[in-house]
Amino acid sequence: MSKGTVLYIEDNEQNFYLVSVLLKTKDYRILWAHDGQEGIEMAIQIRPDLILLDIQLPVMDGYEVAGRLRSNPELSKIPIIAVTSYAMSGDREKALSAGCNGYIEKPIDPDTFLAQIDKYFSGIDPARNEK
Ligand code: MN
Repeated sequence: MSKGTVLYIEDNEQNFYLVSVLLKTKDYRILWAHDGQEGIEMAIQIRPDLILLDIQLPVMDGYEVAGRLRSNPELSKIPIIAVTSYAMSGDREKALSAGCNGYIEKPIDPDTFLAQIDKYFSGIDPARNEK
């Protein structure tokens, strides 16, 4: 039984693979969208519990993806965590103002990543932990 479904919108296979391996060790179900358009379509179909969103994506960047997800009433409550290697100050604020709920920096740190994901899951919907 899965702890929850995570949709990861990411164009880099190595990043997806690392996150996929980590999440599977904790019984999360993880699905891969390769670009923003696919990510939005998959979010509509699957209704994931959490969306991990790369910011540097082809065609449509992560900020635009976050904005589109947030403008869809059926998707507006799904938490979005930006995952990005941008080091410039202000990037975090930009992600949050685009509708993201949180921010994880690349490179992914395997020692802290799962704790961050667990924290987002437990903080999002307290009812889910009572089931
Ligand atoms: Mn990317």
